[in-house]
Amino acid sequence: MLDIHQFTYGEDNYGVLLHCRNSGDTAMIDAGDAYAGELALERTGWSLSQIWITHHHDDHTAGLAVLKAKHNAHVIGPATRGKPLAGVDQQVDDGEHFSFASREVKVLTTPGHTLDMTNFYLPHEKLLFTGDTLFAMGCGRLFEGDAQMMWASLSKLMALPSDTTIYCSHEYTATNATFALSVDPDNQMLIDRARQVTDLRASGKPTVPTNMSLEKATNPFLRVGDGAIKTAINMEDKSEVEVFAKLRKMKDNFKG
Ligand SMILES: [Zn+2]
Repeated sequence: MLDIHQFTYGEDNYGVLLHCRNSGDTAMIDAGDAYAGELALERTGWSLSQIWITHHHDDHTAGLAVLKAKHNAHVIGPATRGKPLAGVDQQVDDGEHFSFASREVKVLTTPGHTLDMTNFYLPHEKLLFTGDTLFAMGCGRLFEGDAQMMWASLSKLMALPSDTTIYCSHEYTATNATFALSVDPDNQMLIDRARQVTDLRASGKPTVPTNMSLEKATNPFLRVGDGAIKTAINMEDKSEVEVFAKLRKMKDNFKG
């Protein structure tokens, strides 16, 4: 069994520690803040053996050098075409596997937010780390890739089992819910979920992790084939990619 400890840093970032009681191995997913990472390790009493980097943005890598040096951790990160990300020991590409605590970790590249975006999936545990690709009721902004690329990436994640548990890197859920309701106002599951999110946030609780079946039912970016959403944004006879591109643009300009 794996223990999971989620911690916060920055304005709205989540970091995660993954720990195996049998082997004692511990992985940290992303290393955006060395201080917050250290605090999480102190609180849990776990000793860091691996760091998995999802993408090159500062809020995912700024603490890497310090954490790696202090714990002598093995760092796994995106396969880049040019020189590797500073501090990455092992570059991994789409479809590859590596081992953590005698378990298989599958690498899924999901470009769109960045070109190097790398997600990690543990098939046995049905556990997925989506970085800034898939958020609760949302998805990452397109900084480096385009809509077609991001839609292909999200489709890749949607092919995973519906009971997959999803950890994403930001607490954006409340604003994502407001946007989702604006384009999918009659979706009862979404209405119910938005209410739960308001309650959770009011009591200072995280809305992450989420799971794939909930996302498929309430995340507009995964529901671009849905007739009601298409009608709501005047895209009835458009393709999934076109609907996705329009939703993403609307969200970029959305003032909830
Ligand atoms: Zn990012």
